[in-house]
Amino acid sequence: MKKIRSAILIHGGAGSYKGFSDEVLSIRLEHLSKAVMEGYNVISKGALDAVEAAVRYMESCGFFNAGLGSVLTINGLVEMDAGIMDGRDLRVGATALLRRVKNPVSLARKIMENTDHIFIAGEWAEKLAEFYGLELLDNIVSEEKLKRFKEMYENWIKGEGSRMSKLREMILQGRVIFESHDTVGAVAIDSEGNVASAVSTGGYWLKFPGRIGDVPLVGCGFYADNDAGASAATGTGEYIARLNLSRFCCDLMRIGFQAQDACRLTIKRITDKFGPDTAGIIAVDKNGGLGYDFNTRGMGRALMYEGLDKPIVAIFREEKN
Ligand code: ASP
Repeated sequence: MKKIRSAILIHGGAGSYKGFSDEVLSIRLEHLSKAVMEGYNVISKGALDAVEAAVRYMESCGFFNAGLGSVLTINGLVEMDAGIMDGRDLRVGATALLRRVKNPVSLARKIMENTDHIFIAGEWAEKLAEFYGLELLDNIVSEEKLKRFKEMYENWIKGEGSRMSKLREMILQGRVIFESHDTVGAVAIDSEGNVASAVSTGGYWLKFPGRIGDVPLVGCGFYADNDAGASAATGTGEYIARLNLSRFCCDLMRIGFQAQDACRLTIKRITDKFGPDTAGIIAVDKNGGLGYDFNTRGMGRALMYEGLDKPIVAIFREEKN
């Protein structure tokens, strides 16, 4: 069997990154670098372990919109979604509407490995998390987050009116107040050529409670198939889902496109359909090639592969990586 160079590529969300100070950006880069190493350090156990570990780090550090850092719904709740996929056998695990699970990606993995289903959401998903001894937290909605929520809510009320139809328009547009998408995702390939993908998010600020975006939907937020590669998307879920964006990217790799070209064409497709500022994607193809693209101002990302001394990390387009 052909030996593949093991590699992992992660993202920390596509968005405008406006209002981020240099200090915050450098903390973000540091966390991306640590997260990719968390994954890379276990890649000898397989791509699946690598993507889970990288996403767990980003959920736990509180600096991304996933796990501890998750944003709040219009009524001040945290509702987290996550998904994971194993490219060896197309097994999938997904979960949504979690309020207390510290690491939704690990619950997604439990659902994949230990249940008869692929997607379990809400109250019973949390009971399952408890049953499997996963960490549950009561303080995901921190004081600081509530303060931020109030500010956002007030701006929204003042600037955009308070009708439900307006809220829906804003969610579909995803541009007015939802400036930054900092959902997390990871794709990896191990030395045996097995690929995997994992994603996790709090959605976006002021989303309607009960709303589920692309992240836990197989083929939309994530996809992995050893015959093609693996991909993970970020951006406005309502657009990503309608194009089955991650599956689209994998299908391009299946017919022979390298990861970088597949990502470019995938972002072209969503831009043509729904305009700029809508999405970003990362991918690894079945030969171990890595790729990414985004139509937003930035997308935090980090990659690491066999032979590299230290991870390559970047947020904006102009940075070399
Ligand atoms: N795709 C996520 C969602 O719509 C948001 C993001 O990527 O930041 O829930």
